[in-house]
Amino acid sequence: MLTDYRVRQRDHLLEISRALTAQLDLDELLAIVLEAAAEMLSGQASLVALRDTEDGRFEIAASHGLPQALVPYFEPLLSDIPDYSDRSRFRIPGLAEKLGRVVTELALRLEQVVALPMAIGNELIGLLYVFRAYGTRFTANDRQVLASFADQAAIAVYNAQLYERVSQEKRRLDAILEYSADGVLILDSAQRIRVFNRALSRLTGWYSPEVLGRRHDEVIRWAHLETDRNLSDAAAGGWPLPSARPLYVEGDLRRRNGGTVSVGIIYAPLFGQGGRLVNIIANVRDITRFREADEIKSTFVSIISHELKTPVALIQGYAETLLRKDARWDPRTRQESLQVILEESDRLNHLIDDLLDASRLEAGKLPLEQEEIAMDSLAQRVAERFRVHANTHEIRVDFPEAFPIVWGDPIRMEQVLNNLLSNAIKYSPRGGTIEVRGRAAPDEVIVTVADEGVGIPFEEQPHVFESFFRGSREYQQQTSGAGLGLYLAQAIVEAHGGRIWVDSDPGAGAAFSFAIPRR
Ligand code: ADP
Repeated sequence: MLTDYRVRQRDHLLEISRALTAQLDLDELLAIVLEAAAEMLSGQASLVALRDTEDGRFEIAASHGLPQALVPYFEPLLSDIPDYSDRSRFRIPGLAEKLGRVVTELALRLEQVVALPMAIGNELIGLLYVFRAYGTRFTANDRQVLASFADQAAIAVYNAQLYERVSQEKRRLDAILEYSADGVLILDSAQRIRVFNRALSRLTGWYSPEVLGRRHDEVIRWAHLETDRNLSDAAAGGWPLPSARPLYVEGDLRRRNGGTVSVGIIYAPLFGQGGRLVNIIANVRDITRFREADEIKSTFVSIISHELKTPVALIQGYAETLLRKDARWDPRTRQESLQVILEESDRLNHLIDDLLDASRLEAGKLPLEQEEIAMDSLAQRVAERFRVHANTHEIRVDFPEAFPIVWGDPIRMEQVLNNLLSNAIKYSPRGGTIEVRGRAAPDEVIVTVADEGVGIPFEEQPHVFESFFRGSREYQQQTSGAGLGLYLAQAIVEAHGGRIWVDSDPGAGAAFSFAIPRR
């Protein structure tokens, strides 16, 4: 009879231990442990307390057969836990009395308790308690049965905790990857995409579900490659770069729906045991801004050298001619030559001033010397000066009576009007009417300079206020200019708390307006 019972018990234990090792979810695992422990010792309730890995304290992790609300009252049973060295000597002092106090307070009927250590080697990771409502005390055999079960449970709990920590770590890593400001791409050894984060979706226009499982080269397609190697070369037949050095690739990536984006990608190989390539981790960085900065630098040099060369060449040519000892110049030719020299020096001066302003702006703000400005009479004055030179253009000024006075820097305001008017003339080669209009709104005054010239193509309109931007059409390329006029006009208007914008029908003229707040 007794052996029969033992055999059954052993088989049962085996079955449970299989269930334990298969379970990685800690809560589910604890539920199995508690139920099995209670059943094995014919108990009515059971508890598991686990040791916190950080502070070493024990806390009740799960219970069986006890109303949830009463579980915290069992905490006194977790005090006075002795240091653990060896299972046979492990006893919690006064445990039966502690239980007595708890159940009296709660009016519960639990009379017997046994507590077994859950240990791995010498490390105590938890405690397993079984309670009986009445009847016989726990025997040495009971303790023994529970002891080997507690050992099994300890290993399973330890694994589940480890698994939970690893999954938590993975979730954290996933979140970091997903929200990283740089694009992150993880490939398997066959160069299939396994991770494709948000930043990369933004860069490429592909969404993660569309590309997972696809090959790297189907998604990362280069419109233009700066570096002489790409991933396919590098990874062909293994990672040939010495000592598994990362590979850096730079160029223009083709976006999903046309268009390109400049990126730099670092591919880092990740090797597993035996030096086998497991993953390739790629960090994708948007380098458009660096590229732009580079481009601005080179446009700057080419525009400036062109803009400086023309007047200098003219001045030099005329001055040399005038200086020739073998020729005598009639007063008219002399006068005209000197006039050219003067005008070209003016142009140079202007350009130098603009460049100085632009570099001041780069360094900070434009200083303003503000006073009251009557925009209408300022516009009249500037227009008058332009009328002297412009004989194919009619320049009209139209401001309503009693135009409000604004607060600003008159020299800078004049510079804005100058730039807008000179553009209006420069970009209407066939002449026409140029109108300078003023309008008073409740909070601001608005000044518009409108011409009937070549206008601005829609795709260029958003860029005309950028520094060194010049129109792409042939006509604009032939006119002189450094692409600074509108950039400075915008900076000046914004320094006054205002705004500037353009309306243009390509081919039919342009109207530039700016608004300055009223006081
Ligand atoms: P720049 O005249 O020296 O090129 P701006 O900054 O004054 O520089 O103007 C930038 C560009 O904006 C010009 O190259 C031209 O393409 C365009 N633009 C400016 N004003 C006008 C206008 N009134 N009509 C047509 N295009 C204009």
